[in-house]
Amino acid sequence: MNKPLRPLPKTGVLDIAPYVPGKSTAPAGVAKVHKLSSNENPLGASPAAIEAVKKLAAKMEFYPDGSAQRLRQAIGAAHGLNPDNIVCSNGSDEIIGLLAQTYLGPGDEGIITEHGFLVYRNYIQAASAVPVVAKESNERADVDAILAAVTDRTKIVFLANPNNPTGTYLPFEEVRRLHSALPKSVLLLLDAAYAEYVRRNDYEAGIELVSSSENVVMTRTFSKVHGLGGMRIGWVYAPGHIVDALNRMRGPFNVNAAAIEAGVAAMGDRDHVEASVAHNSEWLPWVVAELTTLGLRVTPSVGNFVLVHFLDDGKHTAEVADDYLTQRGYILRRVSAYGFPNALRMTVGTEEANRGVISALSEFLKS
Ligand SMILES: *Cc1c(COP(=O)(O)O)cnc(C)c1O
Repeated sequence: MNKPLRPLPKTGVLDIAPYVPGKSTAPAGVAKVHKLSSNENPLGASPAAIEAVKKLAAKMEFYPDGSAQRLRQAIGAAHGLNPDNIVCSNGSDEIIGLLAQTYLGPGDEGIITEHGFLVYRNYIQAASAVPVVAKESNERADVDAILAAVTDRTKIVFLANPNNPTGTYLPFEEVRRLHSALPKSVLLLLDAAYAEYVRRNDYEAGIELVSSSENVVMTRTFSKVHGLGGMRIGWVYAPGHIVDALNRMRGPFNVNAAAIEAGVAAMGDRDHVEASVAHNSEWLPWVVAELTTLGLRVTPSVGNFVLVHFLDDGKHTAEVADDYLTQRGYILRRVSAYGFPNALRMTVGTEEANRGVISALSEFLKS
């Protein structure tokens, strides 16, 4: 057998399209930059979290608690969950990757949806497994299409509910229907990164389904409603046998000490969460109504962002709009990689940012 002349990554690694995060800079000379590209909280982090991290700075020489026990207890108390069924991570990205590494291997299949969150595909490939794409209908996950994609090799179904970048969601009856038709050997991963924002009676993040099954997990994040994207804190609520496997796979100190302190404080600050949700509930409908009045189609969103579709006239495309807005300090997100070459995703921002984008787009569309 011919040995390669240099080390080669395992199967799948070089198929990964490196994740391109939202832009955060505008051209020199732009007076004020409004970053609306990564669904960050326009109100920032809880003041309690900021204080907690300042205090931690004086004790940086100490390793963190490798089991993040206080953080798991704070999450458990806030959500009514047993902390033993929670694993914390360096952002929910990490836990999603660990689930892929734990349950997928060469030849296995992971099902993702047509416009689903892109990191799933990367993690499936990083595990040398095969991403299988299920079509969506009306920019929403389609349970029948997902079920039709299941084969003997399927190991995980990845479902962001609500989804990014569409902002659409599956009513929980649909999620239950999906779960009950899946083989018990298939893991259903419910990514509920935006759960706090959803104001719909037929939505559930998945807690009860996790509690009552052996093959469902729910991932959550501190990056969105808690305003702690830079701290990198995520968690999963999972059955005991999955917690056990993840604790073997994860790094021994995967959540750093500052993240633990910030997370505990943020979980305890219900007022900040409520204020953040209230801000979104006020401005999401406003942004949607204004964009619609401007003649742009907006995918119905229950998250803290909207997918805005531009025109096919060559002059008012998403690409041209993106340049126009960037020149004025409004940074939105291109979403071509998600199958939307002519749309931009906009985070619901501060009042100033929201009004600014709408007036800039109004000028743009007249140009
Ligand atoms: C933002 C987001 C996350 C959160 O990722 P973190 O690693 O926790 O910052 C997870 N899933 C979806 C769908 C997201 O949009």
